[in-house]
Amino acid sequence: SPAMASEKAAALAATPSDGPTIFDKIIKREIPANIVYEDEQVLAFRDIAPQAPIHILIIPKIRDGLTGLSKAEERHCEILGRLLYTAKLVAKQEGLEDGFRIVINDGPTGGQSVYHLHIHLLGGRQMDWPPG
Ligand code: IMP
Repeated sequence: SPAMASEKAAALAATPSDGPTIFDKIIKREIPANIVYEDEQVLAFRDIAPQAPIHILIIPKIRDGLTGLSKAEERHCEILGRLLYTAKLVAKQEGLEDGFRIVINDGPTGGQSVYHLHIHLLGGRQMDWPPG
């Protein structure tokens, strides 16, 4: 919401849950999203609050219990690999030849605010270390 002071505030306010998320609505085209890549298993779209000139979220279309990386099971290995590979494809598609950053936030302390696993792809500026 506009009242939400920051992404950190959103993360602290978010309750880890396996209920539906905003990403389900994006997958079902119930709310608009700027989709940059799609295949049978994966969807990638621009983050609504970009933290870099290029900021894209890469998600599994079927969550299958993957509310976050900490919930990963052996059965998720294939989709996890596919998400990472998709990050590479999208980075190339976006012209991020000089490099990029991928991030997975997990849980309140990790700054997660949406409980549907997603990889952040960030680029188009020099990234800092350590992250905030
Ligand atoms: P997290 O904080 O790692 O869970 O990342 C969630 C991300 O989803 C944040 O960077 C938000 O800006 C982004 N986000 C939340 N709602 C939407 C939306 O409706 N469209 C696109 N991105 C969104």
